[in-house]
Amino acid sequence: MKEIDRAGKCGLYCGACPFYRATVDPTFKERYEKEYGKWEEEGYCLGCSNLDERSWGNECEIVQCTKNQNVKFCHACSLFPCKKIEDFSTDECPHHHTAIKESKRMKEIGCKTWLTEQEKRWSCSKCGEPFAWYSKTCHQCGEQVFNCVAEDQPPKK
Ligand SMILES: [Zn+2]
Repeated sequence: MKEIDRAGKCGLYCGACPFYRATVDPTFKERYEKEYGKWEEEGYCLGCSNLDERSWGNECEIVQCTKNQNVKFCHACSLFPCKKIEDFSTDECPHHHTAIKESKRMKEIGCKTWLTEQEKRWSCSKCGEPFAWYSKTCHQCGEQVFNCVAEDQPPKK
């Protein structure tokens, strides 16, 4: 699998998506259910740059938009940041809220370096196990993890 597959078109890290995690790691779903109860939504995906007919990502309007605009990523588009990505990054899903910020970061430091940064960001600081956007604790060692909800909190004074 190519590294770039984990770079989301919108600037999100596919490697932290529960659908991606469950697709690449057969034990993820079971461990997730142990912590949160039932797995609500079924999704198959190997990342935005690796879509096939089974992938969840086909339905994403950002993915469709990058196809229409003929760009690899949102940040490469002449219209970036457009209303679509602005709406996306301010919707009700906390994990979308870093889309514009991370798109800019990806553009600035390059996709490969950004991926290394993101991989570290979304791995347990204690044992290195990857975790998903909404994970509260590491599935491997139980350490508390810094998830998207925590990142979304206004800074404490
Ligand atoms: Zn851990």
